[in-house]
Amino acid sequence: MKEFQLIENFFSGRGPLRRDVLLGIGDDCAVVQPAANKALAISVDTLVENVHFLPAMPAADLGYKALAVNLSDLASMGAEPAWMALALTLPEPDELWLRRFSEGLLDAAEYYGIALVGGDTTRGPKSITITVNGQVPEDKALTRGGAKAGDWIYVTGTLGDSALGLQLLQGKHDARSEHREYLIGRHYRPTPRVLAGQCLRGLASSAIDLSDGLMSDIGHVLKASGVGAVVKVEDLPLSQAMLDTVSPEFAQSLALTGGEDYELLFTVPEAQKGALETSLSQSGVKFVKIGQICAGNQLKLLKDGEPFTPENLGFEHF
Ligand code: ADP
Ligand code: MG
Repeated sequence: MKEFQLIENFFSGRGPLRRDVLLGIGDDCAVVQPAANKALAISVDTLVENVHFLPAMPAADLGYKALAVNLSDLASMGAEPAWMALALTLPEPDELWLRRFSEGLLDAAEYYGIALVGGDTTRGPKSITITVNGQVPEDKALTRGGAKAGDWIYVTGTLGDSALGLQLLQGKHDARSEHREYLIGRHYRPTPRVLAGQCLRGLASSAIDLSDGLMSDIGHVLKASGVGAVVKVEDLPLSQAMLDTVSPEFAQSLALTGGEDYELLFTVPEAQKGALETSLSQSGVKFVKIGQICAGNQLKLLKDGEPFTPENLGFEHF
């Protein structure tokens, strides 16, 4: 299979059609028409085999996740997904793998309304790079930098599920089969909180998506905003699957340090708290308050009022 044949078979004319795509796959560049009064939000992420995913990962899940992690970056800025480009490097053109990969990728693309407008295909060690473009009303992009002392800290969804899913794949725990399926599903197909991010615009003072683990990612917000934080460990949202599978202490440690949840963490001033809760409940996503921003530059973890240090879980990323 030649490169053009591969593109024709698996990528051309697939995914959602958008009227703002003036020219899609096939020419030297794609041409798109951004909306009036909107700014562009642009992000790129690469997944490399044996670094970010294992060879055993199902191709459809890999396609889905490669896009989902990029969409999560758009979500954290409050941007609406619009267009993407896919750079694919493969050791050989494996048709079955490509069919499944493109199905997973385009499932996510269809659901979130992002058009595949171009890319590049090369031979080499397997890796996937996706560039996403989103649109956000001018001056409304959420950033890591706006948190102020007194603001409340929230997260969406539940934390630590993806990390526990990975540990199940590594044979580190036993879980009931429905829990196993759910937790591994969170690892393979994280949910980018795209609608939730848009609901936060004009209300949240800062936002970030949780890719490396809460403790690490909240650190980026504290640094960018020049503030400290107190997080109440007993308020971290944990799934029933998590609670039924590991001890409460282990669960809380995973929620603090486990990566790849792709939930949103955001801060909101007291004056906007009610409006934000109303707006966000329209997204259908669960969210919970976990702490408060304070002066200084430290993250303080409290469990029932006492300082808390998470277990060292020896977490490795894949
Ligand atoms: P060029 O030589 O100009 O880089 P290519 O032969 O690489 O062009 O690509 C031909 C067309 O197919 C371009 O429009 C490009 O954007 C698109 N394309 C290439 N690879 C992919 C891919 N993996 N997914 C989507 N579009 C792709
Ligand atoms: Mg090319």
